[in-house]
Amino acid sequence: MLYEGSKLSVDVTDGIAVLCFDAREASVNKFDQATIDDLNEAAKALAHADGVKGLLVKSAKPAFIVGADIMEFGERFKASDDEMREWMADANRMFSTIEDLDFPSVTAINGMALGGGLEMCLSTDYRVMGEKAQIGFPETKLGIYPGFGGTVRTPRLIGADNAIEWIADGNPRRADKAFKAGMVDAVVAEDQLEAAARDLLDRAIAGEFDWKARKAEKKAPLKLNKTEAAMTFQTAKGFVLGQTKGMYPAPIEAIDRMAKSAGMERDDAIKEETEGFIKLAKTTEAAALIQLFLNDQLIKKNGKKYAKIAHSVEQAAVLGAGIMGGGIAYQSAYKGVPILMKDIKEDAIQQGLDEASKHFAKGVERGKMDSARMAQGLSRIRPTLTYGDFGSVDAVIEAVVENPKVKKSVLAETEDKVSEKAIIASNTSSISIDLLAADLKRPENFLGMHFFNPVHKMPLVEVIRGAKSSEEAIATVVNYAHTLGKTPIVVNDCPGFLVNRILFPYFFGFQQLISDGADFVKIDKVMEKFGWPMGPAYLSDVVGMDTSQHVEEVLAEGYPDRMAQDGTSSLDVMVEKGRLGQKSGSGYYSYEKDKKGRPKKTLDDKAYELVGSVQKDGQKDFDADEIVDRMMIPMIIEAARALEDGIAETANEVDMGLIMGIGFPPFRGGALKYADAQGLKAVCDKADKYASFGKLYEPTERMREMAANGETYYG
Ligand code: NAD
Repeated sequence: MLYEGSKLSVDVTDGIAVLCFDAREASVNKFDQATIDDLNEAAKALAHADGVKGLLVKSAKPAFIVGADIMEFGERFKASDDEMREWMADANRMFSTIEDLDFPSVTAINGMALGGGLEMCLSTDYRVMGEKAQIGFPETKLGIYPGFGGTVRTPRLIGADNAIEWIADGNPRRADKAFKAGMVDAVVAEDQLEAAARDLLDRAIAGEFDWKARKAEKKAPLKLNKTEAAMTFQTAKGFVLGQTKGMYPAPIEAIDRMAKSAGMERDDAIKEETEGFIKLAKTTEAAALIQLFLNDQLIKKNGKKYAKIAHSVEQAAVLGAGIMGGGIAYQSAYKGVPILMKDIKEDAIQQGLDEASKHFAKGVERGKMDSARMAQGLSRIRPTLTYGDFGSVDAVIEAVVENPKVKKSVLAETEDKVSEKAIIASNTSSISIDLLAADLKRPENFLGMHFFNPVHKMPLVEVIRGAKSSEEAIATVVNYAHTLGKTPIVVNDCPGFLVNRILFPYFFGFQQLISDGADFVKIDKVMEKFGWPMGPAYLSDVVGMDTSQHVEEVLAEGYPDRMAQDGTSSLDVMVEKGRLGQKSGSGYYSYEKDKKGRPKKTLDDKAYELVGSVQKDGQKDFDADEIVDRMMIPMIIEAARALEDGIAETANEVDMGLIMGIGFPPFRGGALKYADAQGLKAVCDKADKYASFGKLYEPTERMREMAANGETYYG
């Protein structure tokens, strides 16, 4: 054995060194500090070894290397620039040492090689990939970019255009795409992988392939003249800026650094890469996106805990075939869980089925499935007007009209038809789960399962725990939500649950701004620039004014101290005039269908006139910072209150709920992460400026205490 560490070993037999990644007592190989240390030692040992003719790199785990240990590296980013420089130089040294070995090297890539894992592969001369494997650079999704030579070796290997695409979009690639781009030299069946890699190595040793030229190519400047380089990098930058609206600095920094280092030799280019990496690692965007990744891990981990006590849902049912019921039926069928879809109206059932067929047909059109799978999927939805087969369902989701009386009677009826073990969940968006449970015989089997519209697109499901809901019922619904490909967050019952409770204070801020004379089109523009997928006026149109008004009423009743509004708002005026938003063709904007039948918004004088009627002192211009603060402060404070009230257990879940449920800008990490980024003292100071607007702008005692102690929500 030439080297043996806890993460990898190097063995030499007949002049062939085999470096095998096999992290001890772990199910996967990750790129962490211990791996860097091991690899540095192994690289040194290889560089000084006698009689080695070639190096084969492989993994003994089902995946090659799944990527960096984000938790550990995220901590490292807090170090000083100089400390980071030193750390990265150390990591880069190991790859360059491997690249500089005076014998050929080949990596056999199985399963997955992401981030640092792929950078490892790039340090060898050749790569052979299993046909089911995937490789890629996910770093830009975390607000950083590949920092161990990825931005240097990739363009030298596959050209600047391809490298920009791979690095900027952060998506993994399958073997055929990787081969076509030139990232790997061969693709073979998994069981042939090691033999094929060994064969390639033997032939390189025998002189059939010019491995020295391979090394030289990766170390030399890029083969682009100045005009070509300017064209390539400028065009790509324009495209990426268009896509990210300038909100995600990482892909832009990657392109800039690749452009700068295009004319440099490897070692200088790596230094350039390091400087850009350090800059990105210190951004609030990187901190937020890394936190988001960790939040997602936490929710998955919780999901695994629940899975242990969950009952399996083999047969589901949905009550109501409307917008939501139809969407839930489709999602369940698409993910393989048969579902009964019951309504009281035949035409509603037909509409629900048509909607599901439309989604399946889109899947076929996009090449995601063939027509046989579509037929199979559709056959999993069984429409019915009766409770005939309800005796055999494991879970029922109630999605009938939002009326407590109707819901209570439907739930009581259902409870009589299903087995004693069946779980019943309501998709209500505003009615208290405890109120709905009050007359049920088995309230322990009842809870909320709040999907968002449109069901097939929105990733969040709020799982609402009633006072009497059992842990098994919660676990079963969490598990079913995971099966449906959703992110479930368990919350306690309260008016508005977690997400609407926090969203509506933002809308109240919006209405207050309008009443004070602000232009809603400007507010939309400012909030979209802040990162929201749509501004509050447009969002109100999409949600539907009557729906919003109804939720406002529920919240006003639930939190009269801060959410009961005086006077008439622009929303009230819109509802009064029947301008309900997209569904009625007009709201704050007017809507016409575009060529593809999608609603397209246009400005409308009538809306201005109506909004003007609530602006007692006429129009007034507000600067962007004031607009952002007046909208975001009530949201942050309500998020803090919800956490303090124990509606969600952790700040991570509060923030994930907002990102997944209402499109809170991911690069800001959620309301509480955004508060952390500003500092709670700054948030409280700003809030105090607007104290005259009432309790929605009043920080909680705990927030003030945290501000005074310099505490943050994420520790
Ligand atoms: P919808 O009006 O489109 O559909 C309701 C359906 O329920 C209708 O087809 C109706 O015929 C049917 N129905 C009425 N009584 C019934 C009964 N006794 N048995 C079976 N079916 C019955 O409404 P929707 O928008 O799909 O909303 C349904 C539920 O989902 C409501 O509680 C709503 O608050 C909630 N929700 C809606 C949204 C949304 O954006 N639309 C989002 C989240 C949650």
